[in-house]
Amino acid sequence: MMRTFKFRLYPTKPQEQKLLWTLDKCRFVYNTLLERWGKTKMKSTDLQHAILEIKRQHPELCDVYSKVLQYENRRLFSHLRTRSGLKKNGKKAGKLRFKGRSWFKTFTYNQSGFKIIPRNIRYDSLHLSKIDQIPFIMHRKIEGTIKQITIKKHTSGKWFALVGAESTAKTALTHPKKSVGIDLGINNFVFDSDGHRQDSQKPLGKSLKRLKRAQQRLSRTKKGSRNRKKQRKRVARVHAKIVDQRNDFLHKVSRWYVQNYTFIAVEALNIRGIIRSSFNARNIMDASWARFVRMLEYKAESAGARVVKVDPRGTTQTCAECGNKVKKELWQRTHACACGFVADRDYNSAREILKRAVGQDLPEFTPVETRPLPFGASQFVKQEPSSDKFLTGSSVL
Ligand SMILES: [Zn+2]
Repeated sequence: MMRTFKFRLYPTKPQEQKLLWTLDKCRFVYNTLLERWGKTKMKSTDLQHAILEIKRQHPELCDVYSKVLQYENRRLFSHLRTRSGLKKNGKKAGKLRFKGRSWFKTFTYNQSGFKIIPRNIRYDSLHLSKIDQIPFIMHRKIEGTIKQITIKKHTSGKWFALVGAESTAKTALTHPKKSVGIDLGINNFVFDSDGHRQDSQKPLGKSLKRLKRAQQRLSRTKKGSRNRKKQRKRVARVHAKIVDQRNDFLHKVSRWYVQNYTFIAVEALNIRGIIRSSFNARNIMDASWARFVRMLEYKAESAGARVVKVDPRGTTQTCAECGNKVKKELWQRTHACACGFVADRDYNSAREILKRAVGQDLPEFTPVETRPLPFGASQFVKQEPSSDKFLTGSSVL
């Protein structure tokens, strides 16, 4: 399984110059390859040879590690594949365009040309062939064998290394054979079939306000001005902060689940509707769920747990106990079925999700009290004591 570890790089001024220069040369090669492909529709392997010829015409390209340039060919063909895939599915897909400076932000060392040198006094360093040893801090252990390293320039001006590593290791299971169904929601980010719940992350509102303000300021600056450049960086920084906060939260919740369960049922999300550029609360929520499910999946894989996705249609309206339809409006927080099953609506959904994943009725269960996930929940939310008292078990009337 491939996993990506992200590290901030701290290049010196001359190193940054060299990084920018390399980025620019890669862009040049990408654009040149795209131009040739446009004329001849060459195959990938033939275009690969063309790189040698381009290098002969532009000898300065020899100062870029050769496999980094070759990777541009792969990048181009991966874009072409995406495009034809979109077309096949009847989506609109324009012609591939030449990339301007602000649209070209990464280059990649594949298989070779890099080395990680452990800490010397303050920093670890990343040796990149034909560039230099760039300081960084390895704040987490890289598990597995490193396959490639992508260097990325963020709009905020920061540099990152995305380290892709292949791992086969499986950690021991702590609780074998425990199953859980998870309902994802807006108020309760998760509500599971064992009665755990976790509020959605709250600091979002504040950061969103800050983002809005920064974006407004950006729109008031003049196009092409210095101020606009500066302000754009500011917006990017606020963006990055929101993403960091969110990811931290998602990591914690998903980690907790794979550590405590071996069978995890979630709803299959329809993520087609997510618009990448739009950064409103609704979109963040959708993106968070999708991300959360992805994290669950890859964490589960290395922990030996199983994640099953079920069709979410009607999970809120179906009684998890008897299968009857129980219509409820959005504001109705309680599921109350004629069969006697009364519970928080999210709890009912979670049970129904688990039931669908298992493909059979669940064994009788004893009532449980709703409780927050047992990891420093107060870090994220203030618990409202009243909602914690809600009994989620069945109470036969
Ligand atoms: Zn029922």
